[in-house]
Amino acid sequence: MEECIFCKIVQGEIPANKVFEDQDFVAFHDIHPAAPVHFLLIPKRHISSLYDVSEADQPLLGKMLWLIPQLAKEQGCVNGFRTIINTGRVGGQEVLHLHIHIIAGKDRLPTMI
Ligand code: 5GP
Ligand code: ZN
Repeated sequence: MEECIFCKIVQGEIPANKVFEDQDFVAFHDIHPAAPVHFLLIPKRHISSLYDVSEADQPLLGKMLWLIPQLAKEQGCVNGFRTIINTGRVGGQEVLHLHIHIIAGKDRLPTMI
């Protein structure tokens, strides 16, 4: 995906402040943090959104969820955190490469709709 900004981060073509990387995933700080902790976990393989996952992606998705609390704790989130996956235009997705936001601060986050 030549024009995908997150694929470029995976390829090292644009810089990112990474907090984790293995053969399947990269996690990095959001460039416009919405809270003191705000990082994104993405699969290295380009998947545009949750609409585009297949049955064969179930292990990848499971690993993605399994990683989150470990990475959150490494970032100091010991009292909780919020995860958000925006999907499609109506869901507010701006970058069309699947990503999970992990967000937290010292205090309780505002209630969402
Ligand atoms: P979305 O609305 O697609 O769920 O969120 C995309 C997120 O990616 C936004 O929070 C935005 O700040 C972040 N973002 C967009 N471009 C870049 C970038 O080049 N580097 C980093 N680190 N974050 C980005
Ligand atoms: Zn991509």
